[in-house]
Amino acid sequence: MKRRNFIKNAALTSAGLAIGNSLTNCADSESKDNKSDVAVSTNKLPLVIATWHVKNATTKAMEILQAGGTALDAVEQGCRVEEADINNSSVGKGGLPDRDGNVTLDACIMDKYGNCGSVVYLQNITHAVSVARKVMEDTPHVMLAGEGAKQFAMSKGFQPEDLLTEASKEAWEKWKIEAKYKPIINIENHDTIGMLAIDKNGDISGACTTSGLAYKMGGRVGDSPIIGSGLFVDNEIGACVATGLGEEVVKTVGSFLVVELMRQGKSPQQACEEAIRRIVSKPNSNYKDFQVGYIAVNKKGETGSYAIHQWFSMTKFQDGVNEQNQSDYYIKKQ
Ligand code: ASP
Repeated sequence: MKRRNFIKNAALTSAGLAIGNSLTNCADSESKDNKSDVAVSTNKLPLVIATWHVKNATTKAMEILQAGGTALDAVEQGCRVEEADINNSSVGKGGLPDRDGNVTLDACIMDKYGNCGSVVYLQNITHAVSVARKVMEDTPHVMLAGEGAKQFAMSKGFQPEDLLTEASKEAWEKWKIEAKYKPIINIENHDTIGMLAIDKNGDISGACTTSGLAYKMGGRVGDSPIIGSGLFVDNEIGACVATGLGEEVVKTVGSFLVVELMRQGKSPQQACEEAIRRIVSKPNSNYKDFQVGYIAVNKKGETGSYAIHQWFSMTKFQDGVNEQNQSDYYIKKQ
């Protein structure tokens, strides 16, 4: 499946979505029965939330949580589902390449102790999130990049493979005809997969994985492998993960900001909204041209999500219900 653009999404989704509600339920993405009051969490544990519409990934994570597994295992295994899906063109195998045709992956993971690991500009290894976990657990470091990250992965038994699929190669060839210098802005369905989970013990972990902006400059790194920007977990407070234009997330240290706002007493929803406000309220911000979205959870199991533009969504699996929630967004307030 190719990335779907904003216009297509708008056409495919029923008109009643996300009008005036913090979160609008669309438990079944085909459903037109959009309820209006889903922002209130039942707080029942365990729970898992993820960016975008990734019910297979949250299903996998919930299986682990229900079996008594850790939040750390759940988020890793959940992200792996999307990394292995060649139809998902923004993570792992099948991810869209940079402008030179190289698929380069960024990922990170963070556990309940505040330990973290990340990989940057990783090539030829599908499961970047698992390499990030190995960095966290098997090295004295936090980040490994490029060839070093790949060599490390191979030393841990990961098999190198070509991540450029026929479909992503075709999309890149098409892009090259015009080859606009600026990467296409993602206001789309399947970007960074970020996942946050709370296990039966009440412990929180998070992970995210991405091939980054499609047709980015060679060497470009986004927010996703940067702890505090793309992801942050504080087991005392909560966690946040980001998607969208990574440069804007990095400039505001977005995920750390959300967690700190929750520490100061804001709900996850309020914290996500404030973090988006920090981006859009910058003088000369061209926020109308890019998307950023955050999802967050606090220690009580309350969740929130917010974006600049419409059509960002969060998948949440809690209390037996695996549902996609359209997120509220900023731009309608203009
Ligand atoms: N945040 C990712 C990046 O900037 C991409 C995305 O989520 O679309 O690399």
